[in-house]
Amino acid sequence: MNDCLFCKIAAGEIPSTKVYEDDAALAFRDIAPQAPVHVLVIPKKHIGGFSDIEGEDDAALAHLWRVAAAVAKSEGIAQSGFRVVSNCGKDAQQTVSHLHLHVLGGRALSGEMA
Ligand code: 5GP
Ligand code: ZN
Repeated sequence: MNDCLFCKIAAGEIPSTKVYEDDAALAFRDIAPQAPVHVLVIPKKHIGGFSDIEGEDDAALAHLWRVAAAVAKSEGIAQSGFRVVSNCGKDAQQTVSHLHLHVLGGRALSGEMA
């Protein structure tokens, strides 16, 4: 996916502030943070969004959630609490079509989901 922003970030073609990386996943700071901690966790494999998840992605996605949990711990928000969000499609205002988990914390978040 040559034209995918997060594929380019995963490939190191566009710089990012990485907080975790392994063969299958990358976590980096959101360029426009909505909370004191706002990290994006992506699979290195291109998956457009939640609607594009397929059975072959099961292991990669389980890994993604574990990386999100590890990031929360390493960012120091595991005890205070945090939110994991993934927007899918137009109504959810997904702006980058490469599956990503937002890990948000470091302040009291709104009680509502949106
Ligand atoms: P979405 O709106 O698709 O759920 O989330 C996309 C996120 O990517 C947004 O929070 C936005 O701030 C972030 N973002 C967009 N472009 C870049 C970029 O070039 N670098 C980084 N680190 N984050 C980006
Ligand atoms: Zn991509």
